[in-house]
Amino acid sequence: MRITVLGKSPSWQDVDGACSGYLIEEDGFRLLLDCGNGVFSKLRRFVDYVDVDAVVISHLHADHFLDLVPFSYALTYAPRQQPVPVGGFPGTDHPARPELHVPPGATELFRRVVGAWGNEDLIENAFAMREYDPGDELSAGPLRIRFQPVPHFVDSNAVEIASTNGGGRITYGADHAPTDHIVDFARDTDLLVIEATLPRPEREGPRGHITPGEAGEHARKAGAHRVLLTHFSDELGEDWAREDAEKAFGGPVEMAREGAIYDV
Ligand SMILES: [Zn+2]
Ligand SMILES: [Zn+2]
Repeated sequence: MRITVLGKSPSWQDVDGACSGYLIEEDGFRLLLDCGNGVFSKLRRFVDYVDVDAVVISHLHADHFLDLVPFSYALTYAPRQQPVPVGGFPGTDHPARPELHVPPGATELFRRVVGAWGNEDLIENAFAMREYDPGDELSAGPLRIRFQPVPHFVDSNAVEIASTNGGGRITYGADHAPTDHIVDFARDTDLLVIEATLPRPEREGPRGHITPGEAGEHARKAGAHRVLLTHFSDELGEDWAREDAEKAFGGPVEMAREGAIYDV
């Protein structure tokens, strides 16, 4: 199984960057995990968007779903997606309509977002969209997908992608406060992709994110085989972040970089 980092920025993009998005490929099957702002254009560097088989969204924050909007426009209006010939493109009776697995409440939220200026059903028509129950186990091509609700400012779900061909297991923490749910869910995982948003813990109010040191600690407790820190800004200071994470993890830690590829 292969994972490509399309975007690793937190809720605002790095210079030339993108927010959360990861392309996971196994046996010719292509899954996009989160689709934050900037991700659609990065995706196109690696794969034709009509060849994406499935999209999974971890939670309903803009930096994890906003590029479903341009993705939906492409699937709806691209000349090659039309039933009749347009501009030299032959028509197609089978326009691409990838599976889209979204958290509970997404249908209503997407209608409010897109309905603010246009057709409220843009996203649900462009994709084969379905709200998952975080208790569900999904099957998508050669991949098995499981969820774990984690504490955040809104309902958020860690996502496990496991190959059914013996190709390994990736655990993606999504966005979360410190939590043992991640430790249990990621137990012995091959690759833990975990957020490292904060330079220091939130000083007041409920916690919603973790620091690089806390990320390393979660990974150590889980016994993760490899650790990839993500969801940090290019303003954070990467060397410092890596050092803190490695100290807590007790081993080497990778810092996510757009375009980086990991085989699991
Ligand atoms: Zn986020
Ligand atoms: Zn979030």
